[in-house]
Amino acid sequence: MKSIEELIEVKRDGGTHTPEELQRLISAFVTGEMPDYQMAAWLMAAFIRGMDSAETAALTEAMARSGRMVDLSSIPGVKVDKHSTGGVGDTTTLVLAPLVASCGVPVAKMSGRGLGFTGGTLDKLESIPGFSVTLEPGAFLSQVRDIGVAVIGQSPDVDPADKKMYALRDVTATVPSMPLIVGSIISKKVAGGADAVVLDVKVGSGAFMKTEADARALAAELVRVGELLGRTVVAVLTDMDQPLGRAVGNALEVREAIATLGGVGPDDLTELCLVLGGKMLVLGGVAENERAARDLLLDAIASGRALNTFRAWVAAQGGNPAVADDPELLPLGEHTRVVHAERDGWISGFDAEGVGRAAMVLGAGRARKEDAIDAGAGLEIDVKIGDRVAPGDALGTLYTSDAALLDDGEARLRDAVRIGDEEPEAPPLFLEV
Ligand code: URA
Ligand code: CA
Repeated sequence: MKSIEELIEVKRDGGTHTPEELQRLISAFVTGEMPDYQMAAWLMAAFIRGMDSAETAALTEAMARSGRMVDLSSIPGVKVDKHSTGGVGDTTTLVLAPLVASCGVPVAKMSGRGLGFTGGTLDKLESIPGFSVTLEPGAFLSQVRDIGVAVIGQSPDVDPADKKMYALRDVTATVPSMPLIVGSIISKKVAGGADAVVLDVKVGSGAFMKTEADARALAAELVRVGELLGRTVVAVLTDMDQPLGRAVGNALEVREAIATLGGVGPDDLTELCLVLGGKMLVLGGVAENERAARDLLLDAIASGRALNTFRAWVAAQGGNPAVADDPELLPLGEHTRVVHAERDGWISGFDAEGVGRAAMVLGAGRARKEDAIDAGAGLEIDVKIGDRVAPGDALGTLYTSDAALLDDGEARLRDAVRIGDEEPEAPPLFLEV
């Protein structure tokens, strides 16, 4: 058997690992036999040399098996999960979980904190007064059986390899590696018990993958590796050159999700949820095709069923379901500022990452892991690419509980919204489905 050092040598020299070697590497790392510095060296070798699909699948499987595997077999039906890669102000999970559940596809989801500059789904849910993202495994399963939906934090004993590896990747400049991203995403879905996965791969300045070619390659590899592991994976490529919806921030995005579930949300967010949700219904076997699925989703919204499921879900996890009817019950930063355009022209583009950072400095995200989040902080954007603006028109509104942060937030939002002299073409939301 090769030593750990010899395994690092294999990848350093551009070799191909056997499945047994990858299993050994992952189990040695999780048990502590392989220290962080050796894993850091291997991660950099993998980053530079890459891995083929068979290696990536073996890595993914070893990661998924590194801890407890969630068993969802007591929940009837096909369990379909959804994942978005990065993105700024991504409100889709908050909408999709109750929307899809209200159409009969069970959602048993483990979700993450924000990896980067904005809060993650858990942070958003926790902005609902009383909402708990911690459930015992038994309570998690019975909630999904009873009301069709539960969303909790990733428990530390599920896919511990990913948690330990991500923490190292984050500080060794090895996050943007295709095989490591694929292993990280798919291993969590496999360990979480998903039969099928719908992936929303974002492209653009607000995403991990800045170019369409990179995002397309990532999407193809996610599908291929999922299939090598016996899971059906569908990927949609979406544009992240402008923020999705209007809201960026935790409670602000909950408000936006409630509006969308009630049929009065922003068009782009609604459309993305109809497309991703449609794929989830087809994979879940409750709709014959995407046209039928779309009709089911639209009916769930129009009839109030989607919002009803949201109320039941919030109540089941200890939150106040009245937020669905009275968004004023959600926190909102008391210090606000409208940011006005200083010149005329057309909105020609966004630095979506800059928009995310503007929300973060207002308190909506974490600069460091241990930082607290200001649930009511963030911003709402009033413009989309292609809009005409004149001096004094509102570009967006900032919210924070600390007035001293407004100037920095304003400067960052202003820098992130580009105003040009020529009318641009509005970018498509979907690059490829
Ligand atoms: N999302 C993940 O969960 N892991 C990665 O490595 C990148 C994006
Ligand atoms: Ca949003």
